[in-house]
Formats: sequence, structure tokens, C-alpha cells
Amino acid sequence: MRRAIALSAFGLGATSPNPPVGCVILDSDEQIVGEGYHERKGEAHAEAQALAAAGKRAAGGTAVVTLEPCNHHGRTPPCRQGLIDARVSRVVIALIDPTSRGEGGAAALQAHGIDVEIGVLANEAQLVLGTWGAALGTGRPVITWPYQLTGRGIEPLADDTADARLLRLNADAVLHEHGQVEEAVPGSHGAGILEINDAGSGTDAYAVVKRLYEGGVRSLLLQGGESVARPFLAAGLVDHVLVWLAARRSSDRLREPLPWPLLPPGFTIAGAVRTAGFVRIEAWRGPGEVS
Ligand SMILES: [Zn+2]
Repeated sequence: MRRAIALSAFGLGATSPNPPVGCVILDSDEQIVGEGYHERKGEAHAEAQALAAAGKRAAGGTAVVTLEPCNHHGRTPPCRQGLIDARVSRVVIALIDPTSRGEGGAAALQAHGIDVEIGVLANEAQLVLGTWGAALGTGRPVITWPYQLTGRGIEPLADDTADARLLRLNADAVLHEHGQVEEAVPGSHGAGILEINDAGSGTDAYAVVKRLYEGGVRSLLLQGGESVARPFLAAGLVDHVLVWLAARRSSDRLREPLPWPLLPPGFTIAGAVRTAGFVRIEAWRGPGEVS
């Protein structure tokens, strides 16, 4: 399952509105004979990729998949049928598809006499599928705002840095100053994900995120300083911040405390690492301990 989870992450920032899923097929001797992941909407699901690689060796074997196999005819045939046709004897699943309501692939596989195990490494699979699931739950993209905090105040994270490129690779879309929205990595969603290219400056933040969700966006980066983030912060729509706090000598700190708050109200630190010239703080909206 950990291998399937790692594979699933290749789909981050590219599969929306579909989930990033990974799959590994073991033969009846428990040897890996196929693996795959969902690359983008409209292309084969992880199970189909892995079964194609395994071929006849899947018969009597085990399929390990990070999300419950689908049970519906969409752009591709349902994965539960592929698993049944391949005559696997066991399917191991990390997370149940929250949209299946008990009528998903797991129930169909069990009805065909296939041994199904659910909840294997669910918390670890959630590290990749969590953004997709959270967006599904709220009906809007998960919003990340990266910024720098220096003696001059809040500044945008420069667009051309390795950090900014890494964030874009894992996101669906970027919202810039004045409301322009672009695909985070041009061409990463194939035929495209965004039906809109102007979320409209000054418009209602809820309306913007709703439109982006309907356009297929499940993760959104805010690229800019406070002016970009303000309407989303005010509406409680920013979920995640990454703060690059500029290095300060202790003598500076003692003489002149930084006059800016480190985090927006209501955020809890989830990580802190030292980078070149900065400390990077990662925080999520939500209650922590009383500070
Ligand atoms: Zn599927």
C-alpha cells in the first residue's frame, strides 16, 4: 500500500476533478506484477493501468489500491469490472470513496465473491487524497497562501523560486492579483481544467471559489501579498499557509520586534523547517492548543 500511495502522488496537481489514485497488483505468489496511477481526467484509472501491466498474472492475485475502485461508467469503464474480469481474488483498499454511499466498487466486488479489505494505511493514503476529499466535502478548492514575512511586512513568494515551482506542481490553479486564474502548470490537465480565466477582482470570495470548483479546480494557490488573500481570509476560505520568515539575528529581534503577526488568526502550526535565509512555517486553519 505504501508503494501505491507513493505512486498516487504522481497525479497531484493533474487529475482534478478526479482523485489522485495509485494501484499495485500482486500475483498469487505475492510478487508485484503491475502498478499504475491515474494521470489525468479522461485517461485510464490507476486500476486499469496496473491491470494492463499485470495481464494474466493478475488472476488469483491481489489488487492494492488507495481509493475504493469506481462502480460507475464515466469516461472509462468501471474499475470494479476490470478487477472482476482479471479474476483477482483479493482487493485491499485504503479509503472508501466518500461519494459511493455503500454502493461503490467494494460492495460490487464482495458480491462477486472477491475478498475485500478496507482501511489499510488509511491515514497515510489520506496524505495524498486529503485535498481531493476535503474539496469534495466543502464544494470548493483547498486554498493555500504562501508568503514571505520580512521587516517590510507581508510580501508575495517570488514566482520563479524552487519553492514556488514545487507548490505549483502540486496545485490545480493559481489566482493572481486582479483575479486572473491560470492552470498552475500549463497543460498538466490535458484538455484543460479551467472554464474561466477571470475570477473577477473584488467579487465575492465564495462565488469565486464556487466557480473554480465547478470548473474542476480542487486545489488553489493564492499568488500575491495581502491584497490577494484578504477577501479569502475574511471569508474563512484560506485553509493552509506557508510562511517564509526572513532570518533575523537575535540582536535584531531583541531591539526591534517584528511588527507583523506571523499567521492569520485561527491557524495552527503543523511544521517548521529552516531554509536558506528563512524559517518556513507551515500552518493549517483550525484549532490547536491555546497559545
Ligand atoms: Zn476507476
